[in-house]
This record gives sequence, structure tokens and C-alpha cells, in this order.
Amino acid sequence: TLSDRLTSVLQNLRGKGKLSDADIDATAREIRIALLEADVALPVVRAFIAKVKERAKGAEVSEALNPAQQVIKIVNEELVAILGGETRRLNLAKNPPTVLMLAGLQGAGKTTLAGKLALWLKKQGHAPLLVACDLQRPNAVNQLQVVGERAGVPTFAPEPGNGVGDPVDVARRGIDEARRSQHDIVIVDTAGRLGVDEELMRQAADIRDAVQPDETLFVVDAMIGQDAVTTAEAFRDGVGFTGVVLTKLDGDARGGAALSVREVTGQPILFASNGEKLEDFDLFHPDRMASRILGMGDMLTLIEQAEQAFDQDKAEQAAQKLGSGELTLEDFLEQMLAVRKMGPIGNLLGMLPGAGQMKDQLAQVDDKSLDRLQAIIRGMTPAERADPKIINASRRQRIAKGSGVAVREVNDLVNRFYDAKKMMQQMAGRFGFGGAGNNRK
Ligand code: GDP
Ligand code: MG
Repeated sequence: TLSDRLTSVLQNLRGKGKLSDADIDATAREIRIALLEADVALPVVRAFIAKVKERAKGAEVSEALNPAQQVIKIVNEELVAILGGETRRLNLAKNPPTVLMLAGLQGAGKTTLAGKLALWLKKQGHAPLLVACDLQRPNAVNQLQVVGERAGVPTFAPEPGNGVGDPVDVARRGIDEARRSQHDIVIVDTAGRLGVDEELMRQAADIRDAVQPDETLFVVDAMIGQDAVTTAEAFRDGVGFTGVVLTKLDGDARGGAALSVREVTGQPILFASNGEKLEDFDLFHPDRMASRILGMGDMLTLIEQAEQAFDQDKAEQAAQKLGSGELTLEDFLEQMLAVRKMGPIGNLLGMLPGAGQMKDQLAQVDDKSLDRLQAIIRGMTPAERADPKIINASRRQRIAKGSGVAVREVNDLVNRFYDAKKMMQQMAGRFGFGGAGNNRK
């Protein structure tokens, strides 16, 4: 597996300072193979790896992670960002009905999706109507009616016995019917071909022009692999679409199609379909997909744990310093950042007996004020951070100017720091823990 290969390639690498080019290259090579194995299209892999390398080059070596883990962490973050960038909800029309049109190759899962979407929307209080515009295959209309019945949603279909109907006409009449019978959402199922062809595209484009969809969803089978790019491009150019639905994720496809389609078309993936039953359907989750593409959920969990353990370590060290009264502004800053990363302040303060008072004070520190505190402390020299007593009026002015805040805010920070320090010393005296601290059970 990728994890094993990476571990062996990078066993002996422990970087200092910045991640070394050798670390990055070695890891990038393995990631590249993993992406290709996950069926991500080659040009997409290239572009992606270049992006990751760029970001990794600037990265400081983390104390918590080895270089391989750190590159993987970057890769994972980039993957999630690309897959999830602008994750959004369905666009609903201001004046109902909202029209959702499904497009994609035959067998992609459009008709099944029509039923899934209908059920999902119905559960949210909508009243969808299915419209059968696949008149190519003899059984297609009936198939839609069956999934509609299962979802408990009506289907508008051409009257039988009139020969092959005109899908554009059916689409138009379907919308009229929805309006008449107060359906707020219309799901238009369309025909697909096994391969991309012009007639299919023209028909889909004609239906699109007739119904003016609020969303056109490109439905794509996750198993399609490398072909995802050409298919997505053909549908983008032929019909255009505003969102993507990935189907058959219950199969063993690693999901590279998701990355390819997202990268090439820039359209968001809205839903994931993962089974034949109508309930096998969910909003698309970028983090799950990233982990699937990388094929290393365990490694990602390890990375997360390593980082958390490291934060915990730091927090304990800081807590001991707090108790011993050797607190510097540097510690204060580190503490704030650790707190922000860990979430609830309680994680940290829970270690200190009787810290309730301080907890209340710190609970008022929101993200924005943390940013400002951070800016102020970063604007100080190391000497100032180590010994805030030397921060006189002219230094305060310089710091305020440098970090874009008012002098008053610098004063506030310094005062707050002294308060915290005093409080910690009092607590230390009261509870008898100090530098040697065994302050946690
Ligand atoms: P369409 O030609 O695009 O309308 O595709 P269909 O909805 O008819 O689906 C083609 C086949 O794929 C059917 O046998 C479906 O049961 C099956 N299918 C659709 N979506 C999924 C899915 O998410 N998982 C699995 N395992 N099968 C699916
Ligand atoms: Mg169909």
C-alpha cells in the first residue's frame, strides 16, 4: 500500500528547518502513483502534484510529524480543498417550480438518482414531480415510474400508444403539469448513450432550452475512471452543467473521477450515490472522498493523532510553566494558538485545578481577538516577549504601529498577561504545583 511504500522510502528522513526537496520529491512520487491508481486523469495528477510541491516547499518541518506524514497532510488538505471548494446546496428557484435536469451517459445512474433525489427532497418537505424524457429505450419510462412509486412521488410521462414521443415536448408539458398541480420541484430524467455522441448532446441541449433548468446535474459513474475527463468535457461543452453527482461509490472505485471532474470543469460535486436502494444517497463529503482517493485512511488518522498528542504535550509543558511563574509572552502566544487548534479552552484549563476563574476570562477570547493578540505578540522582539517589563511607552508605540492596532490594545494585552501570570502564581501557591508539576492525574 501507499503507506508502506512511503514508510520505507522515508524511514530515515528527519528534516530540520524547511522540508527538504528530497523529502518532497520522494513523497510526491508515491502520491503520484497513488493518484494514478485511484484513476485520476494524468493531466490532473500533474497539475495537482505541482501545486502540492509548491506548498510543501514553503512548509516548516513540523515537530509533530515526520516529513512523509507532513507531505501527506498537505496532499490531503489540498485534495479536500479542491473536492470541496465551494460546496453548496441546490439552487432553488425564487418562483417555483425549481427545475433539476439530469444528464449523463447511459447507465450512469440518472434514473436511479431521480428516485433518490425525489425521496431526499420529499423528506425535506418538498413536493417533487418526476418527468420522463428518456424516450430512447423501451423500458426507460417504466423504470422511472417504478422508482417514483418507491419514493412516493408521481411521474409525468407521455401517454402510451402514441409512438415515440418528443422528449422536448414531454419536458415542456411536464413543467406545465408541475405548475398546475403545485409541485415545487421538477426532476427531468433524460436519455443517455453508451458513448458521447452529437445527437444525444443536441437532444439534451434542446430539453435544457425548453425547461430552463435551475440546476443541470451531470451524473457520472465513479467507476468510469480515466474517461471521466473526456466525458465531463463533452457534457460541459454540449449541454453545460452546474453540478456533479458521483454514483456507484459503493463499488471498489477509488474515486479519482471525482478529482478529475472537479478539476477540469470547476463545477462542484453536490451528491454521492452509493447503492441501488433509494436511501443509498447523501450529500458529497470532500474529506471522505480525499481519504478514499489517497487510500490511506489509517495514515490520516495517525497524522491527526500525532498532532493532537503533540499539542497535548505542549499544553502540559505550558501549564507547568504557568504554574512555576516563568510565563513569557512567547508562552502566552503559543498557548493561545494551541487553544485555538484544540477548540474548547477547557481541554487546556481542565489540567489546572481551580482554574475556573481564568476559564471564564479566556472564554471571552474569540477568534478575531486571538488574531489581534497574535499580531501584537508577533510584532514584539524576542527580548520583549521574554520579559514584558521592558516594554515601555516608545516600545508600545512601535509595536502598535507594526501590528496595526491601537496602543491601547498593546496595553490591554500586557495587562492581561500580568493578570494571567499573577493568577497562575496564586493558584500555584494555593494548590502546591510548580515547575516540577505533576499537575494532572
Ligand atoms: P441511467 O441509464 O443513467 O438512467 O442509469 P440507471 O439509473 O438506469 O442505472 C444503471 C444501473 O446502475 C442500474 O442497474 C442501477 O441499479 C445501477 N445503479 C445506479 N446507481 C447506483 C449506485 O449508486 N450503486 C450501484 N451499485 N448501482 C447503481
Ligand atoms: Mg435512465
